[in-house]
Amino acid sequence: YTARQEGVTSRLYSLNGGHWTLSPSTIRTALERALEQGQLHLAYQPLVGRGGALRGFEALLRWAHPQYGTIGPDQFIPVAEMSGLIRHIGSWVLQEATRTALGWPDGTVVSVNISGRQFEHPEFIRELKAALAHSALPPQRLELELTESALMLNSARAERTLRQVKAMGVRVALDDYGVGYSNLGRLKLLDIDTIKIDRSFTRDLTASLPGQVNPDAAIVRSVVGLARDLGIEVVAEGVETQGHLNLLAQLGCETMQGYLFSRPLPAAEAQRWLIHWGRWSWLSGLPWGQETP
Ligand code: C2E
Ligand code: MG
Ligand code: MG
Ligand code: MG
Repeated sequence: YTARQEGVTSRLYSLNGGHWTLSPSTIRTALERALEQGQLHLAYQPLVGRGGALRGFEALLRWAHPQYGTIGPDQFIPVAEMSGLIRHIGSWVLQEATRTALGWPDGTVVSVNISGRQFEHPEFIRELKAALAHSALPPQRLELELTESALMLNSARAERTLRQVKAMGVRVALDDYGVGYSNLGRLKLLDIDTIKIDRSFTRDLTASLPGQVNPDAAIVRSVVGLARDLGIEVVAEGVETQGHLNLLAQLGCETMQGYLFSRPLPAAEAQRWLIHWGRWSWLSGLPWGQETP
């Protein structure tokens, strides 16, 4: 009985809000089989640009395990990174996302998250080229999302890899901006296309303190101003309410992503979204940059 119970507790850390919290070793073992058994798939969340135009989708990994249920990327990506499995998974994500994006209208961008370990691996550029070659997706329609910490891992190599990516014509976004080092001077050197302002700034944007400027609004305004001067596009993450949207538009942010527009969707639903979005954006009367017909 004890042995069995021990077996169970070493597999499952705790029952947390009705979901099993799995131990890293359980995740690792299960993850080794996840790809070949077809348990991984990508969800696509829209990014909405000026005038309500659909700019593209961010591809987000989803894992549906037959026993453990859905396991979030925040839980399994760190394990995949530590175990080295991220290379295999990350290369599949690139192939799958570029192949899906080829079925979208011309100009629609797919954003793919790249982990630091994946980015610094000597084979990364070769895998990126292979994904573009297999899918025949024009490189300008692919954007890689990197965090500042990913670019700091081995900065000499990271900068060289970044130059190679840019030379291929692939776009680069700095993800979760504002929570890391946020070295403003480095932005110019890195030649990135997009800054994604972290969700934590959007979250408290509309909270008002009597007689005080909202600090997050002040930060967003300054990032938007700097980005505009450097010719960098700004995306706000975590846009959940009309209030967020109105304020972000007022602060000069042009591209938005969040539950207000849509949750991450299965590929087939993203495809439907591409067809119906024009009508929906008109009906909902999006307030910013509304281009007169
Ligand atoms: P991220 O790249 O910053 O992705 C945005 C996360 O915010 C996603 O969580 C998305 O579902 C969530 N989100 C979007 N809009 C809203 C909103 O309005 N409100 C709230 N509360 N959340 C929103 P998700 O899918 O759980 O992914 C978490 C993280 O896992 C990602 O953060 C990314 O760092 C990582 N990740 C996901 N897919 C991949 C992948 O294919 N490769 C790698 N290396 N990392 C991935
Ligand atoms: Mg991202
Ligand atoms: Mg992000
Ligand atoms: Mg994030």
